[in-house]
Amino acid sequence: MASSRAELRFADDEVPLGGGTWLFSEEQPGIGGMVDLTGLGWEPLVEQADGGLTIAATCTLAELRAHPERAGRGAHPLFALAVDALLGSWKIHRFATVGGNICLALPAGPMTTLTAALDGVGLIWTPDGTERRVPIVELVTGVRQTVLRHGEVLRAIELPALPLAARVAVRRISLAELGRSGAFVIARRDVDGTFVLTITAATSRPHQLRFASIPSATALANAIDETVADWYDDPHGAPDWRRATSLLFAEECRVELDSADGGVA
Ligand SMILES: Cc1cc2nc3c(=O)[nH]c(=O)nc-3n(C[C@H](O)[C@H](O)[C@H](O)COP(=O)(O)OP(=O)(O)OC[C@H]3O[C@@H](n4cnc5c(N)ncnc54)[C@H](O)[C@@H]3O)c2cc1C
Repeated sequence: MASSRAELRFADDEVPLGGGTWLFSEEQPGIGGMVDLTGLGWEPLVEQADGGLTIAATCTLAELRAHPERAGRGAHPLFALAVDALLGSWKIHRFATVGGNICLALPAGPMTTLTAALDGVGLIWTPDGTERRVPIVELVTGVRQTVLRHGEVLRAIELPALPLAARVAVRRISLAELGRSGAFVIARRDVDGTFVLTITAATSRPHQLRFASIPSATALANAIDETVADWYDDPHGAPDWRRATSLLFAEECRVELDSADGGVA
């Protein structure tokens, strides 16, 4: 277990350990050791003076869900919706970390959904003692793939104030009642009128579309088809179903946020 950044060193066959809910859930050929991040004592959630929120990578899903709502933070209900989309027991939610969920990079990773939709930026600690920042929507690059290089650690996810204050609309579906997400779509309307649509779970990596104002139905559908080609195929849903569902959800979210009093569905 590392207790300081200086101790955060990884041998060739060692990986970071978050809550371990995935690492200890199946055989891990090729992994010779794990460096536990939970001893680093990172504050789970830090409110910023400018209205932003910093989530430590080791923040558990339960801690995120319990974070108190703040006045004017329209996107706050997304925290609980995203945590509940990971259909584990309370035991899993108490150990699974936000960073572990993002770094695992499954299409149905709800922390990727949440933080990508809110323009989250990943703060990455590099082995040479420096750091770099990558938007979460670019950090996850494919199924079980991220931009993280060996020895790099996701330290935190920084959520800016503006998206947190947005009005949001959400749609999620699973093929099975208690199954993993087949499509998870979040739309935002920022206070400056910007419309941002984030599609996850239906695709191998997150996709985000941004418009200066609410687009027409046709413009939105065309933009999705021009942008997204990697509709995901696994037992949780076929690509054509995921595409059709995402297009439908995107349109429903667009209509909802176009109305005067739209909000989380
Ligand atoms: C019942 C059940 C349901 C589940 N449902 C889902 C689901 O719907 N969607 C889903 O995505 N997952 C699901 N999982 C898998 C897993 O539990 C979650 O993805 C969980 O959030 C992983 O977090 P963790 O902290 O336990 O990660 P760990 O198991 O500790 O690590 C996961 C991976 O991330 C790496 N890692 C962890 N933290 C960092 C860091 N800070 N920096 C760099 N790399 C890091 C590890 O090296 C490892 O490769 C489920 C698991 C169970 C048991």
